[in-house]
Amino acid sequence: MRAAVIGAGMAGLASARQLALAGWEVDVLERADGPRADGYMMDFFGLGFDAAERMGLLPRLRDAAYRIGAVEYVDAKRGKRTASIDYDQFASALDGRLLSLMRPDLELVLLDALGDAPEGSVRVHYGARFAEEDGAEHPEEVARLLEGADVVIGADGIHSSVRASLFGDESQYLRPLGLRAAAYVIDGAPELHAEYDGRFVLTDTIDRQAGIYSLRDGRVAAFLAYREDAAGQPPAGEDAPTRLRRVFGGLWEPIDRLLDRCPPHPYDDVVAQVVLPRWHRGSTVLAGDACQAVSLLAGQGASLAIAGAELLTSLIGPCTDAAAIESAMVEYERRWRPVVEEKQAAGRRAAGTFLPPDRWHLLMRRWALRGSSLPVVKTIVMRSIAGGTGLKGTTGV
Ligand SMILES: Cc1cc2nc3c(=O)[nH]c(=O)nc-3n(C[C@H](O)[C@H](O)[C@H](O)COP(=O)(O)OP(=O)(O)OC[C@H]3O[C@@H](n4cnc5c(N)ncnc54)[C@H](O)[C@@H]3O)c2cc1C
Repeated sequence: MRAAVIGAGMAGLASARQLALAGWEVDVLERADGPRADGYMMDFFGLGFDAAERMGLLPRLRDAAYRIGAVEYVDAKRGKRTASIDYDQFASALDGRLLSLMRPDLELVLLDALGDAPEGSVRVHYGARFAEEDGAEHPEEVARLLEGADVVIGADGIHSSVRASLFGDESQYLRPLGLRAAAYVIDGAPELHAEYDGRFVLTDTIDRQAGIYSLRDGRVAAFLAYREDAAGQPPAGEDAPTRLRRVFGGLWEPIDRLLDRCPPHPYDDVVAQVVLPRWHRGSTVLAGDACQAVSLLAGQGASLAIAGAELLTSLIGPCTDAAAIESAMVEYERRWRPVVEEKQAAGRRAAGTFLPPDRWHLLMRRWALRGSSLPVVKTIVMRSIAGGTGLKGTTGV
């Protein structure tokens, strides 16, 4: 059996590995020219952590993980600490089942894990783009790889072209949560690196939040979240560096230094969820953010992308004909959709409080975080941030 997987992100690489281990031939088509070096820090826990353990990936993930002692909130005017989240406490509220991973590092671990499959069973084709315009022709190589595939897995992220080819324009399925998020990494700022080494610092501010942390390779990372209009759309024609300077300029001196070095094309996108009535059509099925984006507010998109891919491929893996594959896709959706819907509801609830809209909400958050140093409150707050881990094992694989 042969599969074509579109997208070499979390869901795509996890799907490719698992199908190849089940004896399939897999071609992965990725539009980027290679693995990306840029990204953002992610909390990795919950169902994806459980899936990674079953897949035997935990030792490699632990090697790639960062040790974050605490997340500090600072008053942007005075630079003084206002509250903090003790990450060790967070981890122990999750029974130690939490890793802090840079997105590119997680991607590299998954890429490396393709080596666990029989030699030559997975081929990753970089620079291979699934046609983005509906009805447009695929590049020749992509068309050849899609032809005759028993299954096509659309794992091409929140702005999925595979989804558009099956179900139409994303405006029907993308639910913006009223925020945008930006992230980038800069080189050559040793003084900032030294100051934020081992620290993850966020501004305690209304309607926008800027974060800064150092990476082990000497680079410094910026994380910026902000409100735009309800659709999360910036003014037409404004490029991302200009927009980020407009929103964050003058907020906090270290962030000004990061803004001065903002690259021309940082990650900057609407924070949104994907709600889709169906996840498959014919021999094509969607995985990861393409069908189930929960948003960074739910904090588990990558985790769910891996866990969902593990479930999907465990069902498709044993199939030997189209009818069995169709039944596997129906079963995947039946079992996985309720899990995703619960996380999406948690993400929507967080949308109102993630960026405090006024001083009152800002103070409420500060008090909640300070209260969370008390053992009982701590467990409740940490578990609610984590969205609960009671679903452990829900994938049933
Ligand atoms: C700022 C931020 C913070 C986050 N924090 C967390 C966190 O703490 N914990 C967590 O679990 N998740 C977090 N997430 C969410 C997480 O990053 C995503 O949910 C996850 O990456 C989704 O994986 P995916 O494989 O579905 O899609 P992606 O990782 O987006 O991968 C999709 C791939 O498809 C490729 N592609 C796209 N279009 C095409 C095309 N036409 N042809 C070929 N290839 C294509 C892309 O280049 C990409 O490589 C965060 C997200 C953001 C933005």
